[in-house]
Amino acid sequence: MEKIFAATLDKARKTTELSKEDIKTLLAAGEKESQALFQYADKVRAKYMGKEVHLRGIIEFSNYCKQNCHYCGLRYDNKKLKRYKLSYEEIYAAAKSAVQLGYRTLVLQGGEDNHYSPGDFAELIKDIKKLDVAITISFGEHDYATYKLWREAGADRYLIKHETADPVLYTQIRPGKTLEERLQCQSWLKELGYQLGSGCMVGLPGQTLDTLADDLLLLKKMDVDMAGIGPFIPHPDTPLAWGEQGTLEMTLKMVAVARIIMPLIHLPSTTALGTIHPRGREMALAAGANVVMPNVSPTEFRELYQIYPNKICLNDTPGHCRNCISGKIAALGRTVSNDYGHSPKFKGGR
Ligand code: SF4
Repeated sequence: MEKIFAATLDKARKTTELSKEDIKTLLAAGEKESQALFQYADKVRAKYMGKEVHLRGIIEFSNYCKQNCHYCGLRYDNKKLKRYKLSYEEIYAAAKSAVQLGYRTLVLQGGEDNHYSPGDFAELIKDIKKLDVAITISFGEHDYATYKLWREAGADRYLIKHETADPVLYTQIRPGKTLEERLQCQSWLKELGYQLGSGCMVGLPGQTLDTLADDLLLLKKMDVDMAGIGPFIPHPDTPLAWGEQGTLEMTLKMVAVARIIMPLIHLPSTTALGTIHPRGREMALAAGANVVMPNVSPTEFRELYQIYPNKICLNDTPGHCRNCISGKIAALGRTVSNDYGHSPKFKGGR
């Protein structure tokens, strides 16, 4: 096994075109081999993306959702959750404070909520754009015309994870939805000139090494600009409450292999990794990741936006989060970027 791993890592040093079997070999790495994998991924990150870490401030504007994803605490059937939605003024105020703290990218994230009309949301995008900041939207599935409207309003990027590349598992965990529909949304977004963010969970019940390799190959096939890869964390008020949490090790290996086969993408060190291990985010930053997404939502609503439980930093103010994460980044010998952090494939935005 060690020999096959060494040969595969050697191949990865020469080409980013790894086969599914190659990817599975890297993901199956034991403890010692994993260290070599992380070190090489870190080297690739340094070569192609530099030492800068990009901070994206997330504003969680609504926890209403009409969908019923089996893994998510915001699902419609979770009647235990107190729902909230921020007004346009509140979202704008959160955006303005984040820009004052130095953020150059904001992520407007919400459950699939019909409370905001596409036209009003476009006006909000236009207003926030005037703050001189890049905008990522993470607001689920919409029709082509809506995506077009928001793109024309100034949105730069869209984050819509495929979650799992296994079409059967996908429909099991996202009832009434298909992977095909998800990928259709991703194709529309690319066609409209958005920088595309996707990603998947690691450790979903029913997932295999085969599926995980498919996840990475799908990200590559869709030519994503960003991939959020985080561990599955079971939420007690969901149908998957019984599931086992995804492991730190496998999530780090997924991040590392993603960096190796897609050197130019942005790879966040996810908050979910920081939730399952106190140094999870730092470990991902040393295994290929180059982005951190601190929460800049008003503190009083954070507890209500828990796709998974025990999310970290719930009681910290946006200012505290910024200082804390900047300190962690400096301790790793890295620097916080001062630019918009567009995809290197689209310098200056699309
Ligand atoms: S994952 Fe997204 S679409 Fe699914 S229930 Fe949660 S917020 Fe809604």
